[in-house]
Amino acid sequence: MTDKNKAEGKRGIKEEIRGEIKKELVQYAKIMDEKGLVNTLEGNLSIYDREKDLLYITPSGTRKSLLDESKIAVLKDGEQIDGSLKRSSEYLLHMAALKSRPDCRAVAHLHAPYLSAYAYCGKGIKLNCSTTFALLFEEIPCLPYGEPGTVHIADGIEEAIATHDLILLANHGVIAVGKDLEFAVSLVEAAEEVLKIYGLAKQVGEVRDLEPEQMESLLENHPASRRNRYGERGGV
Ligand code: 13P
Ligand code: ZN
Repeated sequence: MTDKNKAEGKRGIKEEIRGEIKKELVQYAKIMDEKGLVNTLEGNLSIYDREKDLLYITPSGTRKSLLDESKIAVLKDGEQIDGSLKRSSEYLLHMAALKSRPDCRAVAHLHAPYLSAYAYCGKGIKLNCSTTFALLFEEIPCLPYGEPGTVHIADGIEEAIATHDLILLANHGVIAVGKDLEFAVSLVEAAEEVLKIYGLAKQVGEVRDLEPEQMESLLENHPASRRNRYGERGGV
């Protein structure tokens, strides 16, 4: 390909970039910052335009409350083609998750404190005392440690994320996927609340689990349960 053709190709791709996706990312990055779920050095969000094969992602090491649309990085085949700041160091993690979940177009990688506490202990989470937890997750698995900023952070993600929307990353944080960013971040927000309440409940008294048949009935009959949302794929 000649230099002229290359330049024209790049201009063509740039015309496909959508301002409303950048705007959505900036909005959610600010909401996450307000809630203390991201900070300058922790956490990143992305939206994938599957039709155009463009990944929009927050920039690396940036205070999310100061983001604007010009700072959102846009990647084509892993190469940054737009945005005034360098793309998040975890773009490979986002790409791996999106590749494994063709039904999803958004990723939130956060170091949400209550969830990350479990990740620091390398412990997956299964709570039988919370209807919210049962309906949304049934369980949250924890991937073994993988080095941040490298492709190894995503080792094993393919299998885990096929049947779970929220996964812990050992010694690090969490990743959530969704059909949109609203769903992905909502999962993290809800899990954080549940774990906060669980900590309080343990101080109040003896936490009572649902009986196995109560749990089974809830998961089977509630339209919002994971198995009813996803059918076969969610029913691990
Ligand atoms: P970035 O600032 O490069 O997005 O990285 C933050 C992070 O969470 C690293 O794992
Ligand atoms: Zn991280």
